[in-house]
Amino acid sequence: MDDIRLTLTQVHALAKGLLLTQGFNEAHAQAIATTVTEAERDECRHHGLFRIPFYVNALKVGQASGDAEPTVTELAPGVVKIDAHRGFSPLAIERGEAPLAERAKQQGIAALAVNNALNVAALWPEVERLANRGLVAFAFVSAIPYVVPAGGTKPVFGTNPMAFAWPRANHPPLVFDQAASESARGEIQIRMRDGRALPPGWAIGPDGQPTTDPKEALAGAQLPFGGHKGSAIALMIELLAGPLVGDLLSFESGEDDVANTGAPCGGELIIAIDPTRCMAGGNLERQMAHGERLFSLILEQEGTRLPSDRRYQVRKRNMVEGVTVPLSLYDTLQAFSAGEAVEKLAAYEGDVLLYGEKKGA
Ligand code: NDP
Repeated sequence: MDDIRLTLTQVHALAKGLLLTQGFNEAHAQAIATTVTEAERDECRHHGLFRIPFYVNALKVGQASGDAEPTVTELAPGVVKIDAHRGFSPLAIERGEAPLAERAKQQGIAALAVNNALNVAALWPEVERLANRGLVAFAFVSAIPYVVPAGGTKPVFGTNPMAFAWPRANHPPLVFDQAASESARGEIQIRMRDGRALPPGWAIGPDGQPTTDPKEALAGAQLPFGGHKGSAIALMIELLAGPLVGDLLSFESGEDDVANTGAPCGGELIIAIDPTRCMAGGNLERQMAHGERLFSLILEQEGTRLPSDRRYQVRKRNMVEGVTVPLSLYDTLQAFSAGEAVEKLAAYEGDVLLYGEKKGA
């Protein structure tokens, strides 16, 4: 596959220009383009330029707003609500970050309840930014129902990611951000494209039987990671990002996505904790140094690494060298920018096509 090398500035300009052309206002185009560029920078490509069709298609079919201004409400001294009014999540989260951080520092702990937001992004950016403010952070999002509960055959959970961040001295925060499914959906689609079988334990076919055939898996359902344990995590995330914050469960988001865009609308819960308020005589430096003892013990073992270290390593390089983008994706985005039909964008061949297939509950 031929690639083209772009600087991060070029990635941002390409994404933003395209989003503006297709009807997003300046604030949304800027926030989404930044999210997409950060994903390319850290080589989380399924959330990079590849995601542009999700953003645009949801706007084109009228399921997403391209100009809704998120509104902030204080629900309790430590709980801030941000209503995205069916806009995409990057702008809502951007608007909610400062009030959340401020309240976490005032109260010791605070939560941001994000509502009515379409979310097709990774979660590490929001928790990483909060940890850069000296806070410990968690984020939870439900999605479209692709995942069965342990022992079941009918999908009810989304791939439901959760993320955690811990501030570090002289180092970017420790972050993990992982789906509750055994594999990312995109990984199954990549294997279908490449004609490779799935490892056992990733999926079941439409007949409810285990399958290693990616096509069967996409027509069937994904499995939670770690059997009943991942299933419990997926269940918890459903409750935190749905009923707790007054928003949709994954199967309801699936029903809400009538045009089958694959861009679910729903809630997100973000929790921020000020470590210095969690112990008598709290001292961020000392608490971080204590955490480092654990990281050293892990890293002195061959074969280990800390979550997020891969991202930080490639980030360092890509900020200097730029990133590679499949030429077919780049060409299609360029054509699309110039006004070609949305279907063409959804049908590019440079990477795996995610848009256009959805599992109902
Ligand atoms: P991965 O399994 O690739 O990675 C999960 C985490 O584990 C990452 O933090 C990763 O760090 C870390 N990690 C990976 N390998 C190791 C290792 N050997 N040692 C230590 N840590 C390791 O992610 P998933 O496929 O589960 O999720 C991918 C992304 O998809 C997430 O960003 C998630 O937010 C997003 N997503 C979004 C959805 C939505 O609806 N918005 C739905 C589902 C997923 P590192 O990054 O450094 O590799």
